[in-house]
Amino acid sequence: MREACIDSSLCDGCQDCLEVCVYDAVTLVRIPPSKRLTAIVDPDRCCGCKLCDHPLCPQDAIELRPVRPLATSSV
Ligand code: SF4
Ligand code: SF4
Repeated sequence: MREACIDSSLCDGCQDCLEVCVYDAVTLVRIPPSKRLTAIVDPDRCCGCKLCDHPLCPQDAIELRPVRPLATSSV
């Protein structure tokens, strides 16, 4: 499984990823002390659907990274 990660140093807050995400996993937050907005992804909501994957982001700030599955007990 994969999960979207956003590089806030590249994101310009255009909201394209927020609008495309049907899982409401993306939120815009302000980076103090500036008024600049950046998108962040809630890992509990992101299902790795790739709707926000390249080439959607004009800043190429989104990367879909593999998520390690939870360890299962063998007891
Ligand atoms: S599409 Fe890219 S630049 Fe626009 S808000 Fe999302 S991460 Fe930021
Ligand atoms: S991968 Fe899918 S669920 Fe995750 S943030 Fe992007 S659009 Fe939303």
